[in-house]
Parts: sequence; C-alpha cells; structure tokens
Amino acid sequence: YHPYCSKVQTLPLIPAIKPTFRRSGWARMDSTVRRNRTKHKVVVIMGATGTGKSKLSIDLATRFPAEIINSDKIQIYSGLDITTNKIQMHERQGVPHHLLGDFDSSHAEITPSQFRSVAAAAISDISSRRKLPVLAGGSNSFIHALLVDRFDSESDPFNGSDSVSTELRYRCCFLWVDVSFAVLSDYLSKRVDEMLGSGMLEELAKFYDPDEDESRPKTGLRKAIGVPEFDRHFRKYPPVDQGIIAGNPKKKKDDPEMESFEEAVKAIKDNTCHLAKKQIEKILRMRGAGWDLKRLDATEAFRVLLSSDSGKKSSEIWEKQVVEPSVKFVRRFLEE
Ligand code: ATP
Repeated sequence: YHPYCSKVQTLPLIPAIKPTFRRSGWARMDSTVRRNRTKHKVVVIMGATGTGKSKLSIDLATRFPAEIINSDKIQIYSGLDITTNKIQMHERQGVPHHLLGDFDSSHAEITPSQFRSVAAAAISDISSRRKLPVLAGGSNSFIHALLVDRFDSESDPFNGSDSVSTELRYRCCFLWVDVSFAVLSDYLSKRVDEMLGSGMLEELAKFYDPDEDESRPKTGLRKAIGVPEFDRHFRKYPPVDQGIIAGNPKKKKDDPEMESFEEAVKAIKDNTCHLAKKQIEKILRMRGAGWDLKRLDATEAFRVLLSSDSGKKSSEIWEKQVVEPSVKFVRRFLEE
C-alpha cells in the first residue's frame, strides 16, 4: 500500500505455484523453468542521462507497490546533489529510495562487484515485503553486474571481446527510455544551464579542494561531470579569493575569468552529451546481446518541452507515450 496514491494495485510479485500442481509434477518440471519461477521480479529502467528515468520510476512507483534502487554510480555517493542531478525529496513523493546518496565517497570507490551485493540485498529486502524493486539509473556496468547470473569482475562486457551475458538471476522487465540524440543534446545543454541556476557552481566551489594532487586519478564523487571541469576554472580563479564562495562571473565577454568560466560550462555540456552517447551504445549492446528491452520513445515529450514554456503539453505527451505503455508492460510482467 502506498500512502500517497489512490491508484496503487496489488499484484503478485512472485507468482504462487498453483495449489493443484502435484509434487510429482513439480519434481518433473524442468529445472530451468522451476528456477525461473522462483526468481525475484525486477523492473529495470534504463536510458541515457537526462531521459527521465527517475521521473518514470516515480510514475510507476505511484501506480504499483514499488521501491526504487538507484543504479547511477555517481548518485550512490552522498553530496553534490545538484551537480549529480539527484531526484529531490519533494519529487520522490514518499517513495522509498535505496542506494541513493548512501555512501561516503571519501572512502573507497564502490565497485560493480560491491554494487552487485548491496543492490541484491536491497532486492531481497524489497521483495520480502512483497513490493516490486524498480532499478533506475544510467550506469550500465552496475546494471549488468547486478543482473547477470555469473558475474566476472575481471571482464568488461562493453569492451573488447568480452560479451554481455544474457543469463540473468532475476526475472526482469526492461524499460528503455529513449530520446533522439539531437533533441537530447539540446535538452542536456539546457539542463546544465538550469543546474547552474540552481546553485551548481556554489556547490562545486564548496567541494573544490585547492590542495588536491592533480596528478592522482579522480575517484568516486570527484569523477562526477562538473568536478574536473570546474576544478580547472577554480585553480585559475579560486572561489574564496573573490570574497564569495563562488558566483557566476557577470563580466564582459572578453574577460579572461568569464572565458574560463564559459570554457568549463562548455566542457560540462560536451562531456554530458558524450556520456549520453556512450550510455546509448552500451544499451544497444545489451539489446543486441538479447536483453528484451521495451523501448519507450520520449522524443516528442522532450521536443515539446524545449519549445514551450508551460511544460503542461509535454507532461501530457510523456504520460501518453511513456507512462501508459510502461504501465502496460509492468502489469503484464507482474501477471506472468
Ligand atoms: P563505465 O563503468 O564504463 O564508465 P558506466 O555505464 O558504468 O560506464 P556511467 O554511468 O556511464 O558508467 O558513468 C561514467 C561516468 O559518467 C562517470 O564516471 C562520471 O564521470 C559520469 N557520470 C555518470 N553519472 C553521473 C552523474 N549522475 N553526475 C555526474 N556525472 C556522472
């Protein structure tokens, strides 16, 4: 039961074995089929950065009794909530979130192998309470590590000859939110401007460490897009030197500080688009390997969002073209 929603449905997450099914029949049942029937069910929302995975996860969790598990390798750490674009508290609508901002990145980096264990524990816990685990996040190496039956920490499924495994340890309903790359790039650029407007620069200025050893590879949260780009700017124009924590320099076009700032913003936009491209490639690779991804085309909703001020029309399109088909897929999946 979800206290925030009147539309909540109760559907079996692990189908009960029919009572008429006799012991001898069960014993004869093919072991693979038997194993499949006892696996936990998981909804997996995939997609490039910025495509609305978090929004869809809430749209589903307010219609089904579900809890969300984050699978973004940067959002798993606490801190930099604006820069890493974590879903805000009021947007969560009371839906419980797991592995979102739960780890301190000043300790060791969370590996895919560790994610596999902690996320599996979250799935068991959620399922034991007869709720549906919904995995949402763009880190495909984490998703792969968690879901495959046999995980090999030495191999990289997205590089070289190592392949994406299709033997999964859960019964998965894969929803892939896709937005055409041209529209997504425009949206991502706008999103970076909005994030700056919401305090990203100030957040990064507080996070900036002037004593950091530049030659050492960045780990954990320090890898987040925005950190290296603005660290370069802050090294030239330290935020405290300006008597303020940070501020978007409002100076003339040819001002070197303004140029350095704009260079950082451009690098963030380029790197975000590059990340999106890489994520789409990885998703296509998983689909090519045989993962049954249900593609939801959100391009129109984003196109309208970019061209209108109200966002109302865009929400209606999102509802019709993304949420409604997703709900149908999930309902069918739960009834299987
Ligand atoms: P790989 O493990 O091969 O890098 P992946 O698909 O597991 O790929 P991604 O989620 O694509 O991992 O993240 C790759 C990089 O993209 C991160 O190291 C980080 O630089 C950046 N990144 C990912 N998510 C975020 C985020 N939420 N905020 C800021 N930067 C991010």
